[in-house]
Amino acid sequence: MKPRVLSGVQPSGNLHIGNYLGALKSWVRMQHQYESIFCIVDLHAITVYQEPVTLAQKIRETAGVFLAAGIDPKHSAILVQSSVPAHAELAWMLTCVTPVGWLSRMTQFKAKSAAQETIGDGLFQYPVLMAADILLYQAAVVPVGEDQAQHLELARDIAQRFNSLYGETFVMPATSLPAVGARIMGLDDPAAKMSKSAPGAHHAIALLDPPDRIRKNILRATTDSNPAVDFERAGPGVLNLLNIFQALTCWTDERMRDHFSGMRYGELKKQVAGAALAELEPFQQRYRQIASEPGYIDSVLREGAERVSPIANSTVELVKRRMGLFTGAGAGVRERLVW
Ligand code: ATP
Ligand code: MG
Repeated sequence: MKPRVLSGVQPSGNLHIGNYLGALKSWVRMQHQYESIFCIVDLHAITVYQEPVTLAQKIRETAGVFLAAGIDPKHSAILVQSSVPAHAELAWMLTCVTPVGWLSRMTQFKAKSAAQETIGDGLFQYPVLMAADILLYQAAVVPVGEDQAQHLELARDIAQRFNSLYGETFVMPATSLPAVGARIMGLDDPAAKMSKSAPGAHHAIALLDPPDRIRKNILRATTDSNPAVDFERAGPGVLNLLNIFQALTCWTDERMRDHFSGMRYGELKKQVAGAALAELEPFQQRYRQIASEPGYIDSVLREGAERVSPIANSTVELVKRRMGLFTGAGAGVRERLVW
């Protein structure tokens, strides 16, 4: 059997080129080597307030983006996290073995809670739910952007702690980061990661933005006071643009240096916009086609949830038995595992 891959995106706003280069592109590349599960993690999104009508729409939009990016639903399961209740169930059991001190070290919690007036407990528990998403399917590999590496480390710590308290139960998930594009920075502020939830009209390259808006945002990107590209002295804004270009084109470092050294920033931006649109215009066409098929996205999501539910339920049953919780199966019944 192929090893399993799991990853997810929150339907918390407009997906951007960071989500695409940091996560989706790797998923598309990896999906045929692995048994793949890709989640729209709506329970993660509600750790900060989401307007309900918008959230419902973003869930379907995110699924459409997965499909337009090239995730093949015949091969990979695409599902909405909340449609498989075992995610939340396992999260509670894992919460009970996770020391509070581990969670209080999470940099995402510190950054996201700083922007909130009232901090919901869900924001603090977020990494435990993420551990549950992964461990529920005994995923061997989790392809993510660099910002999620700390949460992945925590997922391994939680798995290890559970295994040592209750006996070998969970597979240790490995983190997979793309070689280029693991951390795309904001166009307006190259010191901050590009994020769906960040404010600012010129912050991101949103995957579904009209092409002229994508071009304008790239042309407005913050650079530095040098006139032209100098790889030794380039500031973070210029490095970010080069990084986006390289992740889109898969050019080697050498080709990047030969091509861009000495190029004026105006021309660099034009070329980055050209590379972004060469990828995103056909992507947007596919998206429009997918979104226009009535009922198609919902059927993909229903089918995905149905396909993975037996795996998820089997893990929850195993965890219950390991912890001594009631399963109704009677003592001494052999553990039935699906994976
Ligand atoms: P939010 O602001 O709501 O947290 P986000 O843009 O951080 O949104 P997530 O849904 O949290 O997106 O993350 C989805 C995936 O995209 C994860 O694998 C994450 O590591 C990756 N990712 C997010 N932002 C970037 C980025 N700027 N560069 C590369 N990868 C990213
Ligand atoms: Mg995020």
